[in-house]
Amino acid sequence: MLRYLTVPVTPFQQNCSIVWCDETMQAAVIDPGGEVDRLIAEMQRLGVTPTALWLTHAHIDHAGGTGEMARRLDLPIIGPHQGDLFWIEQLPEQSRMFRFPAAEPFLPTRWLEDGDTVTLGHTEVAVRHCPGHTPGHVVFHHAGAQRCFVGDVLFAGSIGRTDFPGGDHDTLIASITQRLWPMGDETVFIPGHGPESTFGRERRFNPYLGGT
Ligand SMILES: [Zn+2]
Ligand SMILES: [Zn+2]
Repeated sequence: MLRYLTVPVTPFQQNCSIVWCDETMQAAVIDPGGEVDRLIAEMQRLGVTPTALWLTHAHIDHAGGTGEMARRLDLPIIGPHQGDLFWIEQLPEQSRMFRFPAAEPFLPTRWLEDGDTVTLGHTEVAVRHCPGHTPGHVVFHHAGAQRCFVGDVLFAGSIGRTDFPGGDHDTLIASITQRLWPMGDETVFIPGHGPESTFGRERRFNPYLGGT
């Protein structure tokens, strides 16, 4: 079964999630935006073995610690979708703009596509491409655990910003309604910022999505 611990990192309190298979204790880190020492300490405390870094998208608060962590732990970088290459190339600029520690450059070991799966020990996690906030944004869905790690696509009571380069409001709404809602009302999602919620609750009560 899939288990996880969410660790808010960076001044943006980005929800980095350490996810692991409780049979093999193999772990992946979703969106290591920064505070790499702290993330490594948490994994030691949990007794899990990191095997990969998974990225939802390449904004600095989600991807800023990726290069450093991959280098220090010798881990593959999985995702996001290739549509976010320009954001990865702009990480040094994003670091300066938001006064983050300089992000070490990296390129993903593997780009992700809609319908891909990523493996963690004995468990498999489905990948859906959900553009709109960024063109290459992906989410990680584990149907058995009824959990989805959605990055900045959807929040409890809000949706991702679409005023950045490559953002598009209609595309974001289509990603949410056509790719997230079919995962089921009971599915709990872990957003990039703030508290968890369920797709059912957002489908009914989120003011940006009323009636979808
Ligand atoms: Zn973002
Ligand atoms: Zn974010």
